Amino acid sequence: MNFKVPRGTQDILPQDSWKWHKVEQIISDVCRAYRYSEIRTPIFEQTELFQRTVGDATDIVQKEMYTFEDRGKRSMTLRPEGTAPVVRSFVENKMHGIPDQPVKLYYVGPMFRYERQQAGRYRQFVQFGVEAIGSDNPMIDAEVIALALDVYRRAGLKDLKLVINSLGDRASRAKHREALVAHFEPRIEEFCSDCQTRLHQNPLRILDCKKDHEHPLMVTAPKLTDYLSDENAAYFEAVQNYLAALNISFEIDPNLVRGLDYYNHTAFEIMSTSEGFGAITTLCGGGRYDGMTEEIGGPNAPGIGFAMSIERLLLAMEAENVTFENDELLDVYVATLGEEAEKFGFVLTQQLRAANIHTDTDFLQRKMKGQMKTADRQQARFVIVIGETEVEQQVVQLKNMATGEQREVAVSEVVTTIQQLMK
Ligand code: ATP
Ligand code: MG
Repeated sequence: MNFKVPRGTQDILPQDSWKWHKVEQIISDVCRAYRYSEIRTPIFEQTELFQRTVGDATDIVQKEMYTFEDRGKRSMTLRPEGTAPVVRSFVENKMHGIPDQPVKLYYVGPMFRYERQQAGRYRQFVQFGVEAIGSDNPMIDAEVIALALDVYRRAGLKDLKLVINSLGDRASRAKHREALVAHFEPRIEEFCSDCQTRLHQNPLRILDCKKDHEHPLMVTAPKLTDYLSDENAAYFEAVQNYLAALNISFEIDPNLVRGLDYYNHTAFEIMSTSEGFGAITTLCGGGRYDGMTEEIGGPNAPGIGFAMSIERLLLAMEAENVTFENDELLDVYVATLGEEAEKFGFVLTQQLRAANIHTDTDFLQRKMKGQMKTADRQQARFVIVIGETEVEQQVVQLKNMATGEQREVAVSEVVTTIQQLMK
């Protein structure tokens, strides 16, 4: 029997894992600069958490969750997104009681959605996200957006577009909802079956439909922005002013609604505008979710956050032809000839590693030629050659692969010599 990686998942192989380390490093650097601290929540949660927050009428809850009954007959779900677990933890750990508010958190980890597999869409993917909970100052909305953009910029991306919208509050949305139903109802048979269900369950989601987005009624649909209360409109304007103050350019898209029920006020997406990027252009999505803490039995604590997948970030880099410099290369390869030299080299290898010099040696007792080929393939910066004479005289031959220069170095001097040369 041949086993294969499950559909929609992938192995991150050594030729790529170093890029993931780079992205993870950027994420932790940026989050430290903005003072967001890491939180790690479990991979699975009670199913009801997602039903309550993400929403019963969403694609995620209706079609995409990996839900199972555990042996105690409890319904559990592999997390499809990160906000609900973080907010659950915020409430459970009474983080609203922390003196310094808002509480600023970030996470990086696998999410699971049963989706149709295509480029940029996986069933297990890694999301990086942040949540700032405990402030309804529009300035923090701008901070969160700026943070996301900083991560992409540090990864070298340039072809980016920020799109924002305001979803208003509950009252504004209720009025808009009535208008939407009135708008779509007369011609709803022309829409997909999902949209027909959405009409009365959650008509806002029709605007987010991937099948019907070309329908003429989409363009003429009542815009949420026209239904915002004065207060909501002022909030949205304040967010825009803070973005402008940071020189962050954006577009307003009144049809940007996001696929999760919990959003209100600010909603945003960051897209790739790169030519080489396929049909899916959204790299990052986020927004405000005031009221979620109360929804799961906690106190009032307004929040805003975003999530981006590392898979799509790396795809955007490919599309823009930007690459990281691989600094996970080999510093020193120790090549040996003969049994005595092999042991001698093995001990030296360990000494170099103890000095944090990235070192490897031969384990197959190959000829010198084969060992040198390995050193080449691994792009070793230095090769140390040890034969019987070297063991006798307690020296090594040290070759600088960039310059071709070779010199004899006393064993006791090897570590310091290489440290000097690597500076
Ligand atoms: P889409 O419209 O592409 O389905 P979404 O609205 O489901 O996105 P969110 O739930 O807001 O996306 O997730 C935020 C980000 O996570 C997306 O912008 C994207 O970068 C990433 N993402 C979402 N689903 C997947 C997936 N199946 N595979 C890889 N990345 C994903
Ligand atoms: Mg989706």
